[in-house]
This record gives sequence, C-alpha cells and structure tokens, in this order.
Amino acid sequence: MTGADRGPPDPARVGIDLGGTKIAGILMQTGGTVAAEARLDTPKGSYDRTVEAISELAARLTQQTDQPASIGIGIPGSISPASGRVQNANSTWLNGRPLKEDIEAAIGRPVRIANDANCFALSEATDGAGLGAASVFGVIIGTGCGGGLVVDGRIVDGPRGIGGEWGHNPLPWLEKDELPGPLCWCGRHGCLETWVSGPGLADDHRRVFNEELSAEAIAAAASAGQPGARETLAKHASRLARGLASVVNMFDPERIILGGGLSNMPHLYDELPDLIAPHIFSDDTHVSIRPPVHGPESGVRGAARLWEAPSADEKP
Ligand SMILES: [Zn+2]
Repeated sequence: MTGADRGPPDPARVGIDLGGTKIAGILMQTGGTVAAEARLDTPKGSYDRTVEAISELAARLTQQTDQPASIGIGIPGSISPASGRVQNANSTWLNGRPLKEDIEAAIGRPVRIANDANCFALSEATDGAGLGAASVFGVIIGTGCGGGLVVDGRIVDGPRGIGGEWGHNPLPWLEKDELPGPLCWCGRHGCLETWVSGPGLADDHRRVFNEELSAEAIAAAASAGQPGARETLAKHASRLARGLASVVNMFDPERIILGGGLSNMPHLYDELPDLIAPHIFSDDTHVSIRPPVHGPESGVRGAARLWEAPSADEKP
C-alpha cells in the first residue's frame, strides 16, 4: 500500500470510539479543533449492526467537510495482526470478527483501528496531560482495565497487537487474602481488571462488606467518612499502585495518565505516588501520575490521530 505510512495528505480526520454503550465520533481539523460531533447507541450483541452503526457515523462526519478525511477507530480489544480479526474485546460479540475488513468494505475506504486505551494514550501524549513527555503510559480504569504505551509520539505495539495491555496480567506483590483472586471473563483468576476496574472495586466491597454499591457510591461514602468504604478504596489504591509499579519497572514511562471513570477519583493522585514508590526498582522512586486533560474525549481524539503516525498493522 504505497504511501500508507504517512496516511492521506489531508487536514480532516474522523475519530470514532466504539464503547460498550455509545459509539462516539468527531471530525477533527488540523491543530486538534473538533469541527463536528456525532454519537449513536452501541447495538449490543449484534456484530452486523455494529458495523452498520460505525459506517453510518463515519459517513455522517465525513459529510461535514469538503476535504477528504481519514478515518480512525478505537475499539475494546484489538485487531490481531496474525488473523485480522478482533481479539480480547469485553464486548465479546466482536471477537473473532474481521471488523477492519468489514468496515472498509461497507464504506469503501481504508480505516485504521486500534485498542481504545492506545487511542487514549496517543491523544493525551499528543496534546494532553502527556504533552512534553517522551514516554507516556495511558491507563483506562473504568468498566474494564486497559493500557497503552506511547513513546516519541508513537503507539508501541507489536506482532500480537497487545502492546500496553496490562489488565489481564495478575495482581503483583500479592497479599495472603488476594489468592487466588476473582475469576475474570478471560478465564484466568486474579487479573488486574478484576481488582482495579470499577466493577472490580464494587465486587471487592460486596465480598468483604456484603454491601452492594457502585464504585461511585463507594467513593462518595468514603468521602462522607464511612469506614468500610474507606477501607475498600485504600485496598483498591494499593492494588492499582502495585499494578502500575510493575509497568514502571518494565517500561519506565516518564508519565502515567489515568483515564476512564475511576480517573475522576482525586485521592488516587494524592496516594498513588507513595504507594508505588516502595516497589520501584531504582533510587528514583517518584512516578508522575496525572489526570487526563481531554477526559472521555481522548478516545475519539486519539482515534482521529491514528493516521498521524505510521501504523504497525500496515506495511508499505
Ligand atoms: Zn482476565
């Protein structure tokens, strides 16, 4: 594909973020200005209707500009470079399906697809909380738990399409009551996602205190001084810190940016650096952890930016 490394020479970029409940899209102009927005409900459980909805959104947004626009899409999971099919999506009806091929057939033009946490990391690294840092690890802690590593403005990914995926590694530096860990949807026990995601936090509170509260409600109860909720949040922060410390020891990112619903919890930015420090294999144990600048918009913004750098899944 001649010239694919640089992408089409146009200033308009469509970014689409396929989420569990909504498919959001933007038309982004040079410099990061959002010229148009659109969204549709995610057709849960239907692959064909998901392809149709993404194609409709892409058409709606590209019609908003006279320029030819590139199309980038962030998805849960990723496209396996080996098979060309979706893998690892917690929206499980996508798994095993040739999503890129089907969308390209539906809209008659090339698209780039990347993991949604990679899109988040790319967006924040480009003009968000990672601006000026040579390497950024972007973390999504929300319904699930994902991650993306961006070095020198490029997503670090490899032949398996799983670069930065840390959510299905086990919780490290285990304490006795953390074994074997909850059963994860991926079939393993004790994945980080089962501990540090929003549902993981809520499940832990239910297991220990027999109280059914959402992650947001637990945070509110902790702010109001409820001891059980405070204990749950403290254990959650410890687990998130241990998970992040293992990433730092492997990749040594200059900055970590939190995203997803749980990134709204202010105590994490106060507590995580001290909780991470004992596990860092260096005499410099300070790790910079910041909230996102673009918040939930980083998913679509990063998807729009997928054409700004060479893509690992397209060979010249
Ligand atoms: Zn798992």
